[in-house]
This record gives sequence, C-alpha cells and structure tokens, in this order.
Amino acid sequence: MSFQALLLENQPAFTARVARLEEAALPEGEVLVRVSHSTLNYKDALAIANAGPIVRAWPLVAGIDAAGVVESSASPDFQPGDPVVVNGWGQGESRWGGLAELVRVPAGWPVKLPRPYGPFEAAALGTAGYTAALCVLALEAHGLTPGDGPVLVTGATGGVGSVAVLLLARAGFSVWAVTGKTADAAYLKGLGAAEVLPRSDFTAPGKPLQKERLAGAVDTLGSHALANACAQVKRNGAVAACGLAMGMDLPATVAPFILRGISLLGIDSVYASQARRQAAWNLLAARITPADLAGIVRTIGLEQCPAAAADILAGRVTGRFVVDLAQ
Ligand code: NDP
Repeated sequence: MSFQALLLENQPAFTARVARLEEAALPEGEVLVRVSHSTLNYKDALAIANAGPIVRAWPLVAGIDAAGVVESSASPDFQPGDPVVVNGWGQGESRWGGLAELVRVPAGWPVKLPRPYGPFEAAALGTAGYTAALCVLALEAHGLTPGDGPVLVTGATGGVGSVAVLLLARAGFSVWAVTGKTADAAYLKGLGAAEVLPRSDFTAPGKPLQKERLAGAVDTLGSHALANACAQVKRNGAVAACGLAMGMDLPATVAPFILRGISLLGIDSVYASQARRQAAWNLLAARITPADLAGIVRTIGLEQCPAAAADILAGRVTGRFVVDLAQ
C-alpha cells in the first residue's frame, strides 16, 4: 500500500515536498492509523522551513500530530475503526510523523478520542490544544480558582494561547490575553478574554518584583515575557511555562520564587504519560465544543504546508491550521 506524505530531505539540499511512499517503509509499531487530519504546530513550522534544529533523522515525514481511525492493530487495546489522536513522542522529529495518510505507532501512544470529538477536532486542537490543556490542568492542580484573580495568557492568538484562553474562560477565569496583534482583540474577546494587553508591555526587561496583579499565567513566549509574568503573579500563584516563541532565555531573578512563593510549572507535551494525555483530551472535550473550533480553524492541504509554515514563523497566523489529507 502506498500513501502520500510531506517528506523532508536534506540531500543534496533541504527540500519539503509531497511524496508517495510505501507502507513497508513506516517505522515499527502495533497500531496502523489511517490519518485523515493533521495540523501545523510551531515546531512543525520550524521543521518544514528548516528554520530550527527539529529534524534528527533524514529523510523524515513531517508532522508531530496525527488524527484518524485505526486501520489495523496487533494490540487488544485498539480495534479497527477506533478514532484516535497521536501527539508528539518524537513524531516529525526523529520518527516519521503525521503529515501523511498513514502512521504506524507503538500501542502505548494513541489516545482514544473522547466524545464528541473526531479526527477533525483532534487536529484542530493538535499538540497546541493538548499542551494548553496540560498548562490549565497544572494551574488548576496547583489550586488556582477563578476567585484568585486574573490569569495571563501570552502569545494569545497562537495555537496554544487561543486554546488556553478558551479553556480558562470556560472555567470562569478572568483571562488577560497578551498579543502582538492588538487588531485581533475582537478574536480574543470572542474566545472569552476579559482584557487584551499589548505584547510590548511584556517584552522589555522589567523589575524582578512588580505589582502583584495576576493569579497565574500560561506563558508560550519565554524570555522577558516569562520573567515579567512571574514578577506580576500574586503570592503563592503559579506560571505554566510551555513555549519559547520569543526566546529560549529566561532573564529573571529568583525573587518571585523565594519572596512570593511563586511556582514555575514546566510543561512538556512530547513525552507526557498516557494518563496525563487522556486527562488533557478529556478536559478539552468537556470545555470546548466542535462548534467553538469553527472560528479558530483554517483547513489546508499537504501542498500548502510550506507556505503556511512560513506564515507561522513570521507570526502572521491567528488560530490553527487543520491539514485535510484528502485535499
Ligand atoms: P503559534 O505560532 O501558533 O503561536 C505563537 C504566538 O506567539 C504567535 O501567534 C504570536 O502571538 C506570538 N509570537 C510569535 N512570534 C513571536 C516573537 N518573535 N516574539 C514574541 N511573540 C511571538 O505557536 P504555538 O501556539 O503552537 O506554540 C507556542 C509556543 O509553545 C512555541 O514556542 C512552541 O514551540 C511551544 N510549544 C511547546 C510545547 C511543549 O510541549 N512544551 C508543545 C507545543 C508548543 P501574538 O501575536 O498573539 O503575540
């Protein structure tokens, strides 16, 4: 059986092209998934544009997310026809990934989709949405409740940010959305943001301890944005840090942590346990309906992925891409 995929090669020079590949070339695994929908995350954009050291095995099928139905399974945990999503685990980095009509994975990797989600919704949310859910679960497990005060979300118009705004707003939190695209304020208010703040308020070096005005934060940017968020969180609050869209550095002091008891909660979606994944997808399905996603999503085909990746890296994208493998 052959299938179409977005193939990244580095010989003789880097290329990203739609190629027809053979099923026999897929990596080992107990579960073969017929992928109907995938997506483009920030990390996918870096890989497809060859703009960062993401790819660790060449040639590589891109795509850290795959959503579809089980085609065949050597595991009793999965039956043909089960709707599943596979996020991370090195797909699209060191292992052939989800921008393809087929993926083969170990039985410990797929998550069964909670109702009412199907593969479209799973791709619309993708690793970005699932990571936002991990961030919100971490803040809520820390004890944050809506009565504690506003929660900041940086990179708010991005994939992680948009879903974090929705998830927090649905739980009754007052969400302060930080964005470089203040013209998209209506979009963010539509997701439930109470306030929209300009990114420039957070990107310059700030004092180690600033006015305490936040219960917590979901930070997708890193660098000064993360440092400033930590400096504005009230005593015993928490910041979930998942991204580095502004920078890998953390130009902060220990002051918020040792003088205000702030917790910095690190979020890694790639190798999260199956139990945490299922909890995150259950949270998404409980708080975000398929209808909610309509306003966030743009659907494209495999051929359009390189151009879309360039837009993501240039910070020109609001919301999420779904890649329809049938297009
Ligand atoms: P997106 O590209 O969808 O969104 C990132 C957002 O950050 C943009 O929409 C923009 O929002 C803002 N932004 C973009 N470029 C810059 C810049 N140079 N300086 C400051 N802000 C910028 O990415 P995702 O939402 O998918 O991912 C966000 C981050 O989270 C990435 O760094 C990604 O690698 C990371 N990530 C980490 C995961 C983990 O497991 N820890 C999993 C998934 C993602 P606006 O215009 O609204 O400010």
